[in-house]
Amino acid sequence: MNRRLSSLLALALLLLLSSGIAGSYTVQAGDTLFRIAQRAGVDVAALQSLNHLSGTGVQVGQVLELPGPVVPVAPTAVQVVAGVTVQVPAHLQMGDAFVLRLSGVRASEAQVQFPSEIGEDVRQPNEMLLPVQVGHDFVVLGRVVLGKQTPLSYRVTVGGETLSGSVPVSGQVAGLQRLNMPPSLTNKLVDPARAAEEAEVERAYLRRTPSVWTQPFAPALTTPPRIATLFGQARTYSSGGPVEYHYGTDYLAPIGTPIHAINDGTVVMVGTYPVRGGLVVIDHGAGLLSMYFHQSKTLVRVGQTVKRGEQIGLVGSTGISNAPHLHLELRVRGEAVQPSEWLGKLLP
Ligand SMILES: [Zn+2]
Repeated sequence: MNRRLSSLLALALLLLLSSGIAGSYTVQAGDTLFRIAQRAGVDVAALQSLNHLSGTGVQVGQVLELPGPVVPVAPTAVQVVAGVTVQVPAHLQMGDAFVLRLSGVRASEAQVQFPSEIGEDVRQPNEMLLPVQVGHDFVVLGRVVLGKQTPLSYRVTVGGETLSGSVPVSGQVAGLQRLNMPPSLTNKLVDPARAAEEAEVERAYLRRTPSVWTQPFAPALTTPPRIATLFGQARTYSSGGPVEYHYGTDYLAPIGTPIHAINDGTVVMVGTYPVRGGLVVIDHGAGLLSMYFHQSKTLVRVGQTVKRGEQIGLVGSTGISNAPHLHLELRVRGEAVQPSEWLGKLLP
């Protein structure tokens, strides 16, 4: 019977590494410094100092010195419910977007929820989600909010059968950055027009449209940009002000540098706002938005469909910004996720 299938728990041990390579490790696709440190059983700071790294960015193919062997991990947990195979990451990190993958003839019938969102500071917690087809797979996009360190739980229902499970979450927030911005910038936080700005982005976060992208995500800036501030950085705008997370990645670029849509989508918000400055928001479907802040000029209008790589505006320094840069933000059902996890990939 199906019940026997549904109780079957199979772990796919797709080893990322051959075990026991003490001394060095070559960065693989999907790796982050946090994950490598976690698997090596050391903290990020130790890895940074051993490798003379100033930031947390790593690139595929980069060789890192390690104080010991990296422990092999199973990157994906596989379970079956009512003949539908469910794959989730074996571990997650705060700020991750991730994919719950469904396969089998009844995959499109599945309903997915993340009950651990109840009580978390997330928009639309525990929402009932239906899979969308991206490439050959049916998927549901998940999100792990910054600050979360408790396990993420999921529930998949197919017909009358339900499968539940959880994924451990780790991660840490980079040390506090104190911006000490002048009043001319912090005054924008209390601009009377800010309420309208926030209301408008919150409306965009509620959009649930079919997924429209079919290719990997592309960079927003074509020239290799320098990253000024990483996603997830904790910071204060003014001395004694509240600690806030940096919800995007800041790329330094001269004013007027062309900004490109990172993938196909529909423009759902364009304008100049007190905090985000010249802003374009693109809905890619499946609850995924990309947002481009601080533009000197926007070149698209609401309702327009854009293609991956199409120019949408120019880099500027409008809104709360102290130097010309692009702040690129990705949101899954309203929550900010690590932009670099999408670059060059169809899914995170
Ligand atoms: Zn920023």
